[in-house]
Amino acid sequence: ESVMEKVLQKRSLRMRNMQRTWQESPEGRKMLEFRKSLPSFMEKQGLLQAIAHNQVIVVSGETGCGKTTQIPQYVLESQIESGRGAFCNIICTQPRRISAMAVSERVSAERGEPLGETVGFKVRLEGMKGKNTHLLFCTSGILLRRLLSDRNLNGITHVFVDEIHERGMNEDFLLIVLKDLLPRRRDLRLVLMSATLNAELFSNYFGGAPTFRIPGFTYPVRAHFLEDVLEITGYKLTSFNQIDDYGQEKLWKTQKQLAPRKRKNQITSLVEDALSKSSFENYSSRARDSVASWAPDCIGFNLIEAVLCHICRKERPGAVLVFMTGWEDISSLRDQLKAHPLLGDPNRILLLTCHGSMATSEQKLIFEKPPPNIRKVILATNMAEASITINDIVFVVDCGKAKETTYDALNNTPCLLPSWISQASARQRRGRAGRVQPGECYHLYPKCVYEAFSEYQLPELLRTPLNSLCLQIKSLQVESIGEFLSAALQAPEPRAVRSFLSILPVDPKLGKMLIMGAIFRCFDPVLTIVAGLSVRDPFLLPQDKRDLAGTAKSRFSAKDYSDHMALVRAYEGWKDAEREGSSYEYCWRNFLSAQTLQAIHSLRKQFSFILKDAGLLDTDASMINKLSHNQSLVRAVICSGLFPGIASVVHRETSMSFKTMDDGQVLLYANSVNARYQTIPYPWLLFGEKVKVNAVFIRDSTGVSDSILILFGGALSNGIQAGHLKMLDGYVDFFMDPNLADCYLKVKEELNKLIQK
Ligand code: ADP
Ligand code: MG
Repeated sequence: ESVMEKVLQKRSLRMRNMQRTWQESPEGRKMLEFRKSLPSFMEKQGLLQAIAHNQVIVVSGETGCGKTTQIPQYVLESQIESGRGAFCNIICTQPRRISAMAVSERVSAERGEPLGETVGFKVRLEGMKGKNTHLLFCTSGILLRRLLSDRNLNGITHVFVDEIHERGMNEDFLLIVLKDLLPRRRDLRLVLMSATLNAELFSNYFGGAPTFRIPGFTYPVRAHFLEDVLEITGYKLTSFNQIDDYGQEKLWKTQKQLAPRKRKNQITSLVEDALSKSSFENYSSRARDSVASWAPDCIGFNLIEAVLCHICRKERPGAVLVFMTGWEDISSLRDQLKAHPLLGDPNRILLLTCHGSMATSEQKLIFEKPPPNIRKVILATNMAEASITINDIVFVVDCGKAKETTYDALNNTPCLLPSWISQASARQRRGRAGRVQPGECYHLYPKCVYEAFSEYQLPELLRTPLNSLCLQIKSLQVESIGEFLSAALQAPEPRAVRSFLSILPVDPKLGKMLIMGAIFRCFDPVLTIVAGLSVRDPFLLPQDKRDLAGTAKSRFSAKDYSDHMALVRAYEGWKDAEREGSSYEYCWRNFLSAQTLQAIHSLRKQFSFILKDAGLLDTDASMINKLSHNQSLVRAVICSGLFPGIASVVHRETSMSFKTMDDGQVLLYANSVNARYQTIPYPWLLFGEKVKVNAVFIRDSTGVSDSILILFGGALSNGIQAGHLKMLDGYVDFFMDPNLADCYLKVKEELNKLIQK
């Protein structure tokens, strides 16, 4: 036996003694008593055996049944008890850093140890673990990164991937990478844990791995939808502010005329009406988002306030959990509530928040019992939906929305817009109210909206645009992107992968266009366009106001035959209007979505941060925008990004038609500025997005000349060997094909000549 072996054996014995001492102490017994009351305890022996005999198992069970805190701990304890404690190394991943931290702290406490001893955690930029740590909670991102340098996970004996039902990008990636690893590490044990009963899919993915269902128990929770909430609270809706992109005014007007009694049924039929509008068929998921955008964040915090008042005045004791979309909303609502005579009274209400970046001290308060006669009210993001369990919740207020998961700023494309949750999420949120006694849930949207929710959340891998997905994979240094994707659980369409890959290996639109904008010193307008292309069109097109909306948009076009330039002007106008405090009128008058403009605004910040961070942006702001006024230059940069999204303009005697590179016929989207002209003085139209309805439409377009197309389109990027442009060194690989770097250099020279002339 080696020396190392002996050391570990000795340490294992010490671990066993310590564990036994704790379990026999009064506090240890009390803790064990509690742990035994959790539903997973019933399954303990079965789980341990299954883990011992199968390389992969899938465990599902109600939130709070003890998956996260107990199951990895059972493995740890049994290893320690059998004298192998120091030989095991268990990793359990969490989608969010805050849950990794909270859970590791809880498990340490259950073992009567300080955090960082046997149990530790590691998240980006923070961690507590030591040489005695054998159970590590970390974010899925941390494990992915570890897999980069340590492909075999040497020394790790058990991996738990938690919350897989969320279908987060990192979790899905992890499963792909781990599946690949299993044959090379026959001794490694993998346990997948999920809250809902979607276990089949995962079991199949791992060749029919055994599944375990932990039976749970929750009390019934009564669901109140908006109709009832208005009735219960007596709250009067005075406006349907920002209702939806399509039926806005109609809803607003009708609402004003309604007598309060009639309102309940009317709301239902109004929303149903909006949902069934023809625009819905045309734009399906987009319209669904917009139709739905009228719900709580727009009705305002006042409704939430009214519901809270109702609970605090009329309802039985019990903590309240309010689901909101993000930190900004949470903090504004908190400020508003603090000023309220009842809700802001610290002698009656303990107002807490729960979100991704809260401090550890605040975190603890959430789980604690408040003093008698004080009601705990927690404003939370969807983090409180499944990854954190607060036991004393009796009332849930559900706004029905969530911001889609975002990532580390550098590697990921952020998704900033709140969108509707799924029916599964709504049920999960409701369930939070029934842990200790029957509960009440107030859904702040009508029942018919709930019924229009999708059943499950789409996996992130599928909702994320392919280009940013490839960036992700690239940053993980996985060699073949196509192969990698096809190994995914529900792979995106192979054709989509291929067509993307045949153009450029990684993110052409974002990376290329932004870098070109920076190189050619017209960064600002390009930044707006790129942000706009990655969010959605801020120009609204209400069904019954097509003409007015079209005219409003054409005011931004200044005869330059470009929707992208119109977007730039609209955004700049909005910034000015905001400075003057008139942005609301501005949006209204110009048929613009304030929400989308806001999203573009934030995305602009993120993008320029990334570019700055990569050293691609001159710190001197006047330099990077020195040529921003040069229209043809901006047009050229757009071309470099959108190519081969290009259609030729075919003029006939009385009409025009448009043909794409693959000879397909396309039509202009009704709201395009170019749709208003009889003729277009450019031979080509660049476009960012094709939409298939009955025919294929191009949504946004910009006219370009032959020379721009030749200089900035694909022709030049073929066949030129990389000469290594110093400026791009190191970043080329991240953003694009190295061959392109050389192309840029040439183009830059060409352009400099042109500019100097
Ligand atoms: P699951 O992963 O199945 O959702 P957990 O293992 O996170 O469940 O939690 C199991 C139980 O442990 C919870 O129901 C709760 O009673 C208790 N618990 C978890 N975290 C804490 C904590 N930080 N403080 C007190 N109790 C906790
Ligand atoms: Mg859990």
